[in-house]
Amino acid sequence: CGIFGIIGVADAANFVALGLHALQHRGQEAGGIVAHDPEQGFNSVRRFGYVRDNFTSAKVMEALPGPIAIGHVRYSTAGSKGQTAMRDVQPFFGEFSMGGAAIAHNGNITNAEALRRELIERGSIFQSSSDSECIIHLMARSLQRDIPERMEDALRRVEGAFSVVAMTANQLIGVRDPLGVRPLVLGRLGEAWVLASETCALDIIGAEFQREIEPGEMVVIDESGVESRHPFRARRPRFCIFEHVYFSRPDSILGGRSVYETREAIGRELAKEAPVEADIVCPVPDSGTPAAIGYSLESGIPYAMGIIRNQYMGRTFIEPTEQIRNMGVRLKLNVNRALIRGKRVILVDDSVVRGTTSRKIKEMILDAGAKEVHFRIASPPTAWPCFYGVDTPQREKLLAATMTEEEMRDHLAVDSLKFISLDGLYRAVGEAQGRDNACPQYCDACFSGDYPVEPADMIEKGFRL
Ligand code: 5GP
Ligand code: SF4
Ligand code: MG
Repeated sequence: CGIFGIIGVADAANFVALGLHALQHRGQEAGGIVAHDPEQGFNSVRRFGYVRDNFTSAKVMEALPGPIAIGHVRYSTAGSKGQTAMRDVQPFFGEFSMGGAAIAHNGNITNAEALRRELIERGSIFQSSSDSECIIHLMARSLQRDIPERMEDALRRVEGAFSVVAMTANQLIGVRDPLGVRPLVLGRLGEAWVLASETCALDIIGAEFQREIEPGEMVVIDESGVESRHPFRARRPRFCIFEHVYFSRPDSILGGRSVYETREAIGRELAKEAPVEADIVCPVPDSGTPAAIGYSLESGIPYAMGIIRNQYMGRTFIEPTEQIRNMGVRLKLNVNRALIRGKRVILVDDSVVRGTTSRKIKEMILDAGAKEVHFRIASPPTAWPCFYGVDTPQREKLLAATMTEEEMRDHLAVDSLKFISLDGLYRAVGEAQGRDNACPQYCDACFSGDYPVEPADMIEKGFRL
């Protein structure tokens, strides 16, 4: 999901709409904005679909007046899987004795079901099936006297991955979980302060990037400025390495480095680890593009746009049902036949999850008359599900969970298939020594099975580490 908030500008909701538009790649199922105005109080709008279709009309935006607002774009990783229900669309709102608060959450709470059971037993009335709603109910039960402190109380009980943007009538609040699994950045626009999942959402409104919110940090922003707190026991951060590979936009800055440069470095690393003789290097667009450029630069094999993407389709994996996903590949990608015929083609993609995309693309490329097809993948085999906010299927549906690399190559029926190594990926994200196995620098659980937070709800349901 993508989250955004701003305090200290007229018509804050307009800025939120722009910010969410820049974060649309993080969630395309639904979006919502909450704004507060001293005269009109809190207002909210929640809608299915794209930001540009829902939050551009004057009529909608006029219903969201005020100098402070937050928003959320959703893709479902917990709660109503498949179709998002309207009741699961964030931000969530709660009315407390000291006033109202709205919260928008990116990530996944790994003990949400246990918390939900406990809260329901003690009288909480849940409105949604979302894991994020726990935070509101935990806040309602806290005995603290102000909302930021109630949030601290609530979040200390929550396990897993959370970046949160929240607001009261006069405060904007940002928090990252102690491991800092999901991103969150702070920006400045004149006198106003901005919180956003990624820096590309600062760029769109002309805000200046100040810094990342630190893992385990909470910032409370009001008229007097930014106050930083550290409500959690300090731990070694484990940022999601897959944000570098796929999830974040290439024009965002993560950990002081452009995501694009990181992806190009991944491609270079891949070319060193898994060279092959061929005529052209083609990306599977758009997610494979920067890595393909890196592969081409390192290997000297010309880069070519052998697959053309229809710009009007969303991300395939975010389409939740299998049937739509299966069609999705063809609706979204088409082979540039003239370029492919008779060629030995290296195809670069960011990841293989179920193998649906790779299979379809291989067929399309062979149909177009390619002589050889070599897959090069910019991440290690995805052998484990993510429980921290990226929608990977159950373990059995992951190609790499049941097959070796060779079996996958045979299954996909390609001439060769190679994945970047985990150490290679670490080198590409800037860890010259590779992965520190005693104390890994990132979360890489979907590749390694090394889960930095025990997925308690899933273990209860029978998931085995
Ligand atoms: P597959 O077709 O193998 O299931 O999915 C791989 C494609 O989905 C890749 O092209 C990739 O861009 C995209 N994808 C990337 N990340 C994820 C993820 O975390 N989960 C899923 N399901 N698909 C992803
Ligand atoms: Fe990111 Fe993978 Fe960890 Fe999920 S399991 S947070 S996708 S690195
Ligand atoms: Mg892709």
